[in-house]
Amino acid sequence: MLDKVVIANRGEIALRVLRACQTLGIRTVAVHSTADRNLKHVGMADESVCIGPAPAAESYLNIPAIIAAAEVTDAQAIHPGYGFLSENADFAERVEQSGFVFIGPTANVIRMMGDKVEAIRAMQAAGVPCVPGSGGPLGDDAAVNAKIARDIGYPVIIKAAGGGGGRGMREVRTEAHLSNAITLTKSEAKAAFGNAEVYMEKFLENPRHVEIQVLADGQGNAIHLGERDCSMQRRHQKVVEEAPAPGITPEQRAQIGKVCVEACVRIGYRGAGTFEFLYENGRFYFIEMNTRIQVEHPVTEFITGVDLVREQLLIAGGEKLSIRQSDIEINGHAIECRINAEDPDTFMPSPGTVKRFESAGGPGVRIDTHVYDGYRIPPNYDSMIGKLIVHGRDRATAIARMRIALAEMVFEGVKTNLPLQQRIMADGGFQAGGQNIHYLEKRIAEAKEKAIKLS
Ligand code: ADP
Repeated sequence: MLDKVVIANRGEIALRVLRACQTLGIRTVAVHSTADRNLKHVGMADESVCIGPAPAAESYLNIPAIIAAAEVTDAQAIHPGYGFLSENADFAERVEQSGFVFIGPTANVIRMMGDKVEAIRAMQAAGVPCVPGSGGPLGDDAAVNAKIARDIGYPVIIKAAGGGGGRGMREVRTEAHLSNAITLTKSEAKAAFGNAEVYMEKFLENPRHVEIQVLADGQGNAIHLGERDCSMQRRHQKVVEEAPAPGITPEQRAQIGKVCVEACVRIGYRGAGTFEFLYENGRFYFIEMNTRIQVEHPVTEFITGVDLVREQLLIAGGEKLSIRQSDIEINGHAIECRINAEDPDTFMPSPGTVKRFESAGGPGVRIDTHVYDGYRIPPNYDSMIGKLIVHGRDRATAIARMRIALAEMVFEGVKTNLPLQQRIMADGGFQAGGQNIHYLEKRIAEAKEKAIKLS
């Protein structure tokens, strides 16, 4: 069992990790930037260390400072949260080389999954269904590339092997545009990710985003905890997530879950992880694996009753997985709304002081936020300030509870996307369930047009 953990993150996830440590009696070290002295978890942690100035590059991405913080506090392990260094293989390697436990998979596995061409190769070998594609990086021979595209069938998408965050992708509908698109994506990929390698996939027109949560102990045991539907997206960023995914049958869940579990065992996966799929016409297509805890993990916690962060800590402490696949039952339905400090119409970030914060409550309501009365949201980081998660015996109950909880919450002093989330919950298409990844953007565009016509 671990005795002291450095939480190498900020905001709601740092608080989430701190709470999980507390339930296990593990002492905590908060590391923070100069802009984040007033973060809720910093005050709650057993110890805290300032690791640098406000810009993330000098603090939350500052590897030597974080490792030094672990050294001076005599901690044992480092939890990276999500974002920042959570999927940085070099960080994981340096942590382990310095004699600490990295709470996540091995550096080799992170590195493999961080290179999408390699990740897809490994997944294909493990029997995970992938999007039909080039199966490897694209060279410079235009005729060869044109043949690959013709074999896949247009439209295709050119993607950066080192890409992330929804960037470094280009859709191609006809052969006339192919060569140019490959050249452009290569140079963009080189500039953005330091890796010019690109590959080609079939472009799926109207898929849903459905992902499988897994837990593995790196000692041969792995389980899946069902799926989440994260199709409500704007600019490839998730806005609402839910579990289970509407319309997925227990048989489909068991089948794709088993494939993911087998892949985990095969690659020696350790910790919590997510297999992301596009789902179209009843079929799953692997796109990438996230080797960390995800923002949307609470919906899975609600429907399975498993504390995923607690499991991460136990696995990192060397324990074998104590939950078996047969222990996992899906109960009811859970929905998460991400709460961002931003204008609900223009999506411009809205940092500043939260003069008054009022929470929500009632059965099946969970709020993960670091915000309190008088908290000042710094302009330096992501605009997400919390998550509202609800659970009900069925999807309709969960939606009803979400609408009440959204109405109950108050953030005075900054703009938030609560009105947008209310509109999504009230939307007939969302209520019907099973919309594709383009649905939200289409509805936002329609609403904007209507508003322009009315004005
Ligand atoms: P990132 O690591 O940048 O998030 P992903 O591979 O996970 O990249 O893809 C992000 C998003 O891009 C997907 O959720 C989907 O909206 C779109 N996308 C990726 N690949 C395809 C594809 N083959 N067909 C259609 N859309 C795709």
